[in-house]
Amino acid sequence: MNDQTRLIHSGRDRDPHTGASSLPIYQVSTFDQPDPEHLGAYDYARSDNPTREALEHTIAVLEGGARGLAFASGMAATSSALLLFQTGDHLVVGQDIYGGTYRVLTTVFKRWGLDVTFVDSTDTENVRRAITPATRGLFVESPANPQLQITDLRAMAEIAREHKLLAITDNTFMTPHLQRPLELGFDVVVHSATKFLGGHSDLIAGLAVTREEELGRRLKAIQNSFGAILGPQDSWLVLRGIKTLAVRLDAQQRTADQIARWLQQRPEIRRVLYPGLEGHVGHGIHARQARGGGAVISFELADGPTAVNLLKRVKLPLVAVSLGGVESILSYPATMSHASMPHEERLSRGITDGLVRLSVGLESADDLIADLSSALDGVLA
Ligand SMILES: *Cc1c(COP(=O)(O)O)cnc(C)c1O
Repeated sequence: MNDQTRLIHSGRDRDPHTGASSLPIYQVSTFDQPDPEHLGAYDYARSDNPTREALEHTIAVLEGGARGLAFASGMAATSSALLLFQTGDHLVVGQDIYGGTYRVLTTVFKRWGLDVTFVDSTDTENVRRAITPATRGLFVESPANPQLQITDLRAMAEIAREHKLLAITDNTFMTPHLQRPLELGFDVVVHSATKFLGGHSDLIAGLAVTREEELGRRLKAIQNSFGAILGPQDSWLVLRGIKTLAVRLDAQQRTADQIARWLQQRPEIRRVLYPGLEGHVGHGIHARQARGGGAVISFELADGPTAVNLLKRVKLPLVAVSLGGVESILSYPATMSHASMPHEERLSRGITDGLVRLSVGLESADDLIADLSSALDGVLA
C-alpha cells in the first residue's frame, strides 16, 4: 500500500463497533469485566486504551515496526526508552541531540548510573572509538538541531549490530513520511509527536516504535509500570494530525526548499543550513536515507543584535520554541533551545548569536519570502 494511503487507512482508522469514521475518544479509566476470572482485552486504561492503541498501531505501521507506544510527551517517550538500560551501562550519544535528551541523560540518568559519552556522530569513526566493553546503546539524531548536521544512520545501525548495541534514534525532524530508521537497521525510533505528527501546535505527545516484538514487549512493560502514557484526547488529536502528515510535510518541504535557496542569494546571510541544499555538509548521506530536506532551515546573520532585530520585525512566523506546526515558527537557539549551554561551548559548536531557526509552515512561500525580505531590509536600514 502506498504511504499516503496508509496514513488514511492504517487498519485502525474506523470504529469496529459502529463504523464511525474516526476512532472514538475512549475517555475512561476502567472497563467492566463480565468474567472476573478471565479479564478481557481491556482492564485499566494505563495498560491499554482503545484510542491510544489505535495511535500506537498507526505509528508502528508508518515506521515499519513491530510495536508502537504513545507517551505523554516526546521526553516521556525518550526517557521510557532509556529505561531499557540498567545501572552501569554505557551509551554513546550524538553530541547534538535534542537539549531535553541531553539534560535527562546528564542529570536524572547520570544519578541513576547510566554512563554516557557524547561524540560528534557526523564522523562515524568517533562513534566506533567511543565504544567500550560496557557499551550497550547508541543514541543519535539526524538531522540534528539546530545546524541540521547529518549522521549516517545505516553506518550507525551497522556499528550497533557489530557490537550488539541497542540503536535508538529520534526521528522528530523527518517523521516516517521522510525517513524510516527501523528499515535502516535501528532498534527503536522515538518521536516528539508535538511537532510534525501532531502538526498543529495544539498538544504535547511522544511516540516510540520498536523494530522487534520482544523489545516492544519490554518497552510496553516499562510504559505500563512507569505510567507516562498519552491520554485519549491527545491520542485522538495526534491520529487526526497524522492523516494529513504527507500533504502538510510535502508542501512545507517544498516551501522550505524555496526559502533556503532564496536565503542563499541574500548577501547579509552568512550561512544557510538545510539538508536539501546540495552544498549542505552530509547532503549525499542524507539523500540516501531520507526523502527530502524536511521543513526546518537554520541561517546565520552577522551577529546577535541583527538576529534579534530580525526576530522582532517578522510578522508571519511565530517567534517561539517548537517546530512542525502549520504556522511557521522562528526560534532563537541562543536564548531558547541552547540557552543553558555555556556560552563558549555554544560558540565552539557553531551555535552563534546570529543563528536563527525557521520551521516552515503552510503559509504561501511568496508571503513568507516577502515577510522575511522586508524584515531583513528593515534590519539593515
Ligand atoms: C521537541 C523535541 C523533543 C521533546 O519532545 P516534547 O514533546 O517536547 O517532550 C525531542 N526531540 C526533538 C528532536 C524535539 O524537537
